[in-house]
Amino acid sequence: MSEKKKSLNITDAEWEIMRVAWTTKETTSKEVTEILNAKTEWKSTTVKTLLSRLVDKGMLGTTRNGNKFIYFPLVEERKSIEALSEEMLAKVCSKKVGKVLESIINESLLSFDDIDELEALLKEKRKSAVKEVACNCTPGQCQCHLV
Ligand SMILES: [Zn+2]
Repeated sequence: MSEKKKSLNITDAEWEIMRVAWTTKETTSKEVTEILNAKTEWKSTTVKTLLSRLVDKGMLGTTRNGNKFIYFPLVEERKSIEALSEEMLAKVCSKKVGKVLESIINESLLSFDDIDELEALLKEKRKSAVKEVACNCTPGQCQCHLV
């Protein structure tokens, strides 16, 4: 088993709130409700519940300013996106990670700059590539252990 990384452990709804917090740097439940009104039908009570869960999870900090609470992110967006992709890849056999990356790239609209960076990254990855990736699964959770 590989070492267990710190997982994000947040729901899709909480992720929506975090995106607002990362964008605004500081926000209030009123502002979050207004911004997300464009894509959700969450009532202010829902947003308040999600905000307080994120505070409990250590994703957001909060301070009181008069009669309102200000929320601010305690984790970086970049780090969270990294954790999110690690979490996703941890769900499949390490032998299949290449195929997952292939399908992500295949389904993505990319800029020329993105492609240049990916090409450079792949060229670099070739230096540490292996003939065959080892399976990291619990026997019974993938085909690798069946003969
Ligand atoms: Zn496997």
